[in-house]
Amino acid sequence: MGKGTEAAKNCVRCGLCRRSCLLAEAWPPGGEVATPRGKMILLQEMLAGVLELDEAGAEEFWYRCTTCGRCELDCPALVPLAELVIAVRRYLVERGRVPSRAAHALRRLRRYGNPWGRPAGERWAGVAGLPAKPPAPGEAADTLLYLGCLAGYDPRARRAALALAEVLAAAGLNFAVLGAEELCCGGEAYALGEEGLFEHLAEANLALFARYRVRRIIAFCPHCYHAFKALYPRRLEVKHYTEVLAELVEKEKIPLRPGSGRKVVYHDPCHLGRRHGIYRAPRQILRSLPKTSLLAAELEAEEALCCEAGGGRMWLDPPGGKSLLPRRIVDQAQAAGADTLAVTCPFCLTALEPPAKERGIAVQDLAEMVRLGLGRGD
Ligand code: SF4
Ligand code: SF4
Repeated sequence: MGKGTEAAKNCVRCGLCRRSCLLAEAWPPGGEVATPRGKMILLQEMLAGVLELDEAGAEEFWYRCTTCGRCELDCPALVPLAELVIAVRRYLVERGRVPSRAAHALRRLRRYGNPWGRPAGERWAGVAGLPAKPPAPGEAADTLLYLGCLAGYDPRARRAALALAEVLAAAGLNFAVLGAEELCCGGEAYALGEEGLFEHLAEANLALFARYRVRRIIAFCPHCYHAFKALYPRRLEVKHYTEVLAELVEKEKIPLRPGSGRKVVYHDPCHLGRRHGIYRAPRQILRSLPKTSLLAAELEAEEALCCEAGGGRMWLDPPGGKSLLPRRIVDQAQAAGADTLAVTCPFCLTALEPPAKERGIAVQDLAEMVRLGLGRGD
């Protein structure tokens, strides 16, 4: 097996992780083999040479995990389950055994620098209202607002990113954006097991940051934040935007006006919450918004459900054709009495908006809510 899989040997098969993976029970065919423990047993047997990969499950099986990290919470042996799933994917990529839709996304990413295969020049093309510019050649971009692929091409995510740029500018922060020059952070290539492509994108981004003498990065997307913070070979000064907004709110740099009154449930993104422990900053911002009540969902913070879009699953169809957890997240918001589900990740925004609309619940990025607090936006 490939590098990094040895940690599977630490699994003592206690089964405590089984209850955490709601996808294992929900996605057909289910069964023990689909649980995190089942995956670790298969991996142990592959490492021991008892099972071949062919017998240990088709490639689709290893791509069912969203790398949400929920199962790791319960593991007494501290087995890094999500990283082990990614390690098996690396092994599958080396053998050309990637599910076809994931392989397609990776091909587009390799060729165009974004997983949708859109021309690089279209990233932020023709968008008015971005209150920051790419640096001129030779100019230093001390603080870079890194917006990511979803905001670069998807109109809904772009609206949320624009709101963030507007709020940061209103708070008097000087920052640059890279516009059409921005590249994919590579985080989803890593999650899909394409390590070579991830390394190529990381090197290209590091060269770009060096060229513009970037000192610190504000990441709009938790997946980019995770890539810069935890996966890049060089240490970068990076914050997720919620950390920056929380500081600005605390220093009273954001002039908030009384709003119309909202009941909000906050959805913790896996790559911000469980991966990096950022639970307080987004809640602090929400509590500072006038006339906003922050309600508790049944499962939140460490226990929060995954929106099913992480771990490269954005480009894969849900088994059985139906997403399940986004509906459960919306159900919980409804049960708590919320009229708004606040998100801080463009992947969550994309996954949660359709089921929330069906229930008459608004999904807003926290940056959009803060902009409303400024008396702007709709
Ligand atoms: S990381 Fe999440 S999706 Fe993957 S096995 Fe663990 S709980 Fe399930
Ligand atoms: S909780 Fe940890 S040790 Fe127990 S079965 Fe799951 S991975 Fe193995």
